[in-house]
Amino acid sequence: MTAKAPINQDYITIPRKQDPDARPSLIGLNRDALKAALLELGAPEKQLKMRVNQLWSWMYQKGAKSFDEMTNLSKDFRALLAENFIIGRPEIVTKQVSEDGTRKYLLRIAGGHEVEAVYIPEANRGTLCISSQIGCTLTCTFCHTGTQKLVRNLTAGEIVGQIMVARDDLDEWGKDPGDKRLVSNIVLMGMGEPLYNTNNVRDAMLIAMDNEGISLSRRRITLSTSGVVPEIIRAGEEIGCMLAISFHATTDEVRDVLVPINRKHKIDELLQACRDYPRLSNSERITFEYVMLKDVNDSDADAHRLVKLISGIPAKINLIPFNPWPGSPYERSDWDRIEAFAEIVNNAGYASPVRTPRGEDIMAACGQLKSATERERKSAKEIAREAGV
Ligand code: SAH
Ligand code: SF4
Repeated sequence: MTAKAPINQDYITIPRKQDPDARPSLIGLNRDALKAALLELGAPEKQLKMRVNQLWSWMYQKGAKSFDEMTNLSKDFRALLAENFIIGRPEIVTKQVSEDGTRKYLLRIAGGHEVEAVYIPEANRGTLCISSQIGCTLTCTFCHTGTQKLVRNLTAGEIVGQIMVARDDLDEWGKDPGDKRLVSNIVLMGMGEPLYNTNNVRDAMLIAMDNEGISLSRRRITLSTSGVVPEIIRAGEEIGCMLAISFHATTDEVRDVLVPINRKHKIDELLQACRDYPRLSNSERITFEYVMLKDVNDSDADAHRLVKLISGIPAKINLIPFNPWPGSPYERSDWDRIEAFAEIVNNAGYASPVRTPRGEDIMAACGQLKSATERERKSAKEIAREAGV
């Protein structure tokens, strides 16, 4: 559709923002917010819906990076948009490609901060692991991100922007939806606790799921939380994505140390929220992540306790061999221990895939993400002391 109507005078009389860096990005605004932004620019009300659809399709179906590309908008309108907005995405600072094909992106966002996103290609899917915060307020003792202070929450645009950057890099825009997707799955398992930034995560995921755009199914999005109990049900209701719980221990005593949010929300309370998670069924199971730490949480007794605790919850258990980072106070469980643990869980009827560490050579594996630019919160020694190891 071409914008035949001449640009209304009102377009030209609104004040222009002179500093180009002050232009806000349209990425991350939902349709209503986009409408409001265009209305403020003076776009006639009766055109709003059409204009929003046009912009949406350029941004989220074709991956346009500038208004110039939007050839079905009039030149004047494009110029007006460009004076007031950008289609900003996080900027790739470095891209590392692992021997196994995993790609780790170090991304710069507003304020000069950096976050990481990791793309993991597999035979039947491609998973993008994205961040929700710069740093984390929580201090799980086995997690590299936990050593980094929280700098700030990411905006919805910065969260969905990570998906867009990966699609740029993989040249995936505008491909026939029937084609095999390169970014077919999203996991919110990068830096930060997504349920301490629920609204922005929700807004970003609703954009990623929108059928007129990136169009990812809610079942292909998994949100991992360390256990922010009061937000779990809301995430299920408002996002509807799959849920993963960073469980990691089978007694409150051990979980209090490994995942300190447990001091506030105990295992019982967390499991009740899981039982109440909307749409829970055998085809939509909760994933329990369990990091295998040598002599800390990897005994047969732990495995038996684990299956007992989650009994009745449609679940799968994802065993994650601990990924060390410089100064980390734990060791990875031996392989025969991991296998023995997996067997007990399997025998109890739960799928328990062991997560193959991916991208280890580029520090892209679970829990290794951390932006080198941000100040350390704690020294390795302090973490070790607190962990009692
Ligand atoms: N903050 C959220 C999401 C990010 S962490 C959460 O905690 O769930 C993604 C997963 O990696 C979590 O299950 C986390 O516990 C796990 N993880 C963290 N550090 C790890 C490490 N060093 N080795 C293996 N897994 C780790
Ligand atoms: Fe934060 Fe998750 Fe790491 Fe815990 S495991 S410190 S919640 S990122």
